[in-house]
Amino acid sequence: MDYQLILNEIKEEVSLLENEGLVANYIPELTNVDPGKLGMHLHSVDNKGYSFGDAEEKFSIQSISKVFSLILAYKVLDKDIWKRVDVEPSGDPFNSLTLLEYENGIPRNPFINSGAIVVADILMSHYQNPKEALLNFVRKISGNPSIDYNEKVALSEKSHGYRNAALANLMKSFGNIQNEVNDILDFYFYQCSLEMSCKDLSKAFLIFANKGRLVETEEVFIESRQAKRVNAIMQTCGFYDESGEFAFRVGLPGKSGVGGGIVAVHPGQYSVAVWSPRLNEKGNSYMGMEVLERLTTKTGYSIF
Ligand code: GLN
Repeated sequence: MDYQLILNEIKEEVSLLENEGLVANYIPELTNVDPGKLGMHLHSVDNKGYSFGDAEEKFSIQSISKVFSLILAYKVLDKDIWKRVDVEPSGDPFNSLTLLEYENGIPRNPFINSGAIVVADILMSHYQNPKEALLNFVRKISGNPSIDYNEKVALSEKSHGYRNAALANLMKSFGNIQNEVNDILDFYFYQCSLEMSCKDLSKAFLIFANKGRLVETEEVFIESRQAKRVNAIMQTCGFYDESGEFAFRVGLPGKSGVGGGIVAVHPGQYSVAVWSPRLNEKGNSYMGMEVLERLTTKTGYSIF
């Protein structure tokens, strides 16, 4: 498969499209981004990379970080993690409070905010310094030691994070949060502020295309059975109340973030990341969806 040729074609085609949607503004610091940015990087399991546009520029990965924190917590608790967070699509927006009230403070899945806050709580209980543990893990799987948190973004979200505070408090009232709410929120906002490029992200997500192992060294990061399950959750829950639409149009497990990034995985083949900051009304990158839909159409392969 000539991936570079396909990427070049996609770049050409989407340059003719109107870029719709709006940059996220409920985290004020995120509005400082140039809405016209567009980058894509695909990394294949034979360790070759293909890019176009702003593929090496770092951006705020936001909810994509929920996959990294989930893997760490899954390594810590193994299947006991599912006693604290479920694996059902929510069909609701990422920051919704409604289902928690009826489901005893157990979030529907780890990729909506409530689920990721429980995962952050698990990591806080296990690690002395969870921020450092998460950062080291992400640097290792992406092979880039320069990856870091953006404190400005974290603090900007902290001073406006009313819904996340409400989610954490509601879950605490049900007994599904063990640590102090403010400490967990602080960790969660830092985790979301991680900055990575499309290249970093697609390299990091290659473990999901390669049964939990790094492609360079075959070092095992998560068990193959765990990688399979995280892929299943990405497929069914990675795009909140647009997960069905993403499966329908793209057909790959993936995860989005309100910074405009989307990562998707083709198990056994490649992982791919796209960045374009304008979001559709569900909080997913408008152009990211367009680009990835074209990728699986042009390659002729999705997981379906
Ligand atoms: N930090 C964001 C929040 O908690 C992440 C949301 C997202 O990327 N969907 O609201």
